[in-house]
Amino acid sequence: MKNNILNFLEIQGYKVESTEETKKQKLIVKVRKKKGYKNKCPGCGSLKISCHAKGNYRLKKHSHFQEKLIYLKIKRDRLVCLKCRKVFSEELPSIKKYSRVSDNFVKQSLGYLAKNSFNEVGTVNKIGYQALKNSLYDNVDPFKLLDEKVKRLSELEEIYLGLDGQSFRGLDMVLTITEVKLRELLTILPSEHQVDLERFLKRLSPEIRAKVKGVAMDMTNKHYRLLVANFPKAVIVIDHYHVVACALMHLQKVRTTLQSARRMAIPIKKELNKNREDLTESDKDKMNKYFSLFPELFEAYLAKERVRLLYRATKYNEAKEKIGLLISELRNSKEDELKELGRTMTHWKQEILNYFKCRITNAYTEGLHTKCKLIKRKSFGFKNVETYVRKLILGLLPFALLWSYTHFST
Ligand SMILES: [Zn+2]
Repeated sequence: MKNNILNFLEIQGYKVESTEETKKQKLIVKVRKKKGYKNKCPGCGSLKISCHAKGNYRLKKHSHFQEKLIYLKIKRDRLVCLKCRKVFSEELPSIKKYSRVSDNFVKQSLGYLAKNSFNEVGTVNKIGYQALKNSLYDNVDPFKLLDEKVKRLSELEEIYLGLDGQSFRGLDMVLTITEVKLRELLTILPSEHQVDLERFLKRLSPEIRAKVKGVAMDMTNKHYRLLVANFPKAVIVIDHYHVVACALMHLQKVRTTLQSARRMAIPIKKELNKNREDLTESDKDKMNKYFSLFPELFEAYLAKERVRLLYRATKYNEAKEKIGLLISELRNSKEDELKELGRTMTHWKQEILNYFKCRITNAYTEGLHTKCKLIKRKSFGFKNVETYVRKLILGLLPFALLWSYTHFST
């Protein structure tokens, strides 16, 4: 029976002496360290140790099970090394020194935190925000995660990175970095600032950097030069979804500008967003009505569709010819928004075309951001970006994997 309890509570390395249930929904399991568990002197490494002073029994939070909190009642003695006379606190299996909880409790709380808010975990597990936050910081580190992932990258022949910013709060952004072909999160950086990106780049050896053959990003990325300098063999690809989104944004701006200039509603926002092949007959009728009133709107719509059509090209040269023609037409347009689109596409022309050399997209990275939004919504916002990034990583990766990164030795 007592052995069953040991397995159930995951406290191998201990012996159960007694159990006691209190009225306040607590189960207290008094345990003693098994004889075989030897302490080593932290000073000289000697195994010849003796007891210096008996410790007092203390309760350590261990687990939460059906409304009940399970505590381990345990004592930690002061020991003395017989060789160098150093006095030190006894090591106990799976309870860190000075900690009021066991490793199992940390694991359980973080496991809940992966799917729930700080508040929720705090209430269920009876753990304060600060303690939970400390556990999160101790066990989830964006750069530690990266080191584990770098090991994986070093085994690859070719590496394809995806970089994408996502809003944390207002204008503050965090930067998600993935391997787009493996479809794996590498890390989330707490800002889009150059210092953080440089810190990331430093973790990649020159050998790994040379294996990077492609980097997918969008047109807002400010670190183009830094990326080119660090990945000499990579082509930088502007994600095709963002190119279309950019054309779409200008199209909608033409519509809203017309709306306010002419003081009339042009209620075809949804229809303009649709792909041409998905339009119904009634969509088309509705759009044609406004297109005949506003030829510039029609022009902008055609431009958006032509940007989409670029991606039907099968060969690099075909795409190059098409984009050259499109850009020169856009730049000659009388419509400011289209001129602007033409300028943006000129600026990123080579990177847009690079897609036809290296067909990578940031779709996987964007997909992660959808999950991040859910995590953010459940948690009612975050004040601290470092906490936010760690909570995201905890929510995005399998928890067992993260735990193994910090606890592979135990
Ligand atoms: Zn010693």
